[in-house]
Amino acid sequence: HTGENLWVRGARLGSRFVFIVVEDRGDAWRLDAMRRDFIANVSHELKTPVSAVSLLAEALQEAADDPEMVSRFASRLSTESARLANLTSDIIRLSAAQESNPAIANTPLSVNDLLARVLDEHRTLAEQRTMTVVVARADGLRVFGDAEALGVAFSNLVSNAINYSPDGSHIGIGVTVVEDPEGAPASIEIAVTDQGRGIPPEDLDRIFERFYRVDPARSRDTGGTGLGLSIVKNTVQGHGGRVRVWSRPGDGSTFTVTLPLHEDSADHVAPAKPVT
Ligand code: ADP
Repeated sequence: HTGENLWVRGARLGSRFVFIVVEDRGDAWRLDAMRRDFIANVSHELKTPVSAVSLLAEALQEAADDPEMVSRFASRLSTESARLANLTSDIIRLSAAQESNPAIANTPLSVNDLLARVLDEHRTLAEQRTMTVVVARADGLRVFGDAEALGVAFSNLVSNAINYSPDGSHIGIGVTVVEDPEGAPASIEIAVTDQGRGIPPEDLDRIFERFYRVDPARSRDTGGTGLGLSIVKNTVQGHGGRVRVWSRPGDGSTFTVTLPLHEDSADHVAPAKPVT
């Protein structure tokens, strides 16, 4: 494999000759290969919870006379079916995030409202884990977008920050306005920072790939589908923005989302204040 689209194959013909074939496999071939890969990955990911559900259903029938076993199997059954439900909804979200939606450009959204909703969703989990979430206010700042899709993207970043960090640690959501060369506010950077386990440098390039996990067992324990960051990346890119990550094992991680600002946004960012 010599480059993006060029493939080289060859073979020996007796002792004096070789033949070499150089094939230019275009973008359509690559897209098709990616689609096949995705289907193979999805089938593989579905296999475990689907066979667990059918085994547990059988076990439940056999244990009908033993209330303790019934309750144990029923609780595992509900964990596995929740896993299936999460996987299904993440697959649907990812496929929606990969479609471009021209209507997005016309809908202005308040950044404060967007972040407040995401925090509301995670308040209970953060409290259970005695974690503090500190969020900057973004008064007057608006971005263009789909509230539902951007909400899911920030929600994924905040739930990762909680899931991959120790109890009692702090999570910060910072907001920075980036100006254009004339000094007018042009884009906004929203950074989600945690004090968690961090990500090894060799994995940093791969965590946005579908189903890539640094520690598959940990991801499974937290109910992760391995699709969260692919959804973030595709959603943010679909909104004309980008996402970057900084991380060091043991020191925590920062995921920064940059989005174009709506032109009537004020360039005022109030100091962060604790909410949980
Ligand atoms: P998952 O459902 O496994 O969390 P994601 O796509 O959201 O899938 O993330 C991919 C992997 O990146 C995770 O399995 C985890 O190993 C790593 N990761 C993501 N966010 C963080 C974070 N804040 N701290 C440490 N590791 C993280």
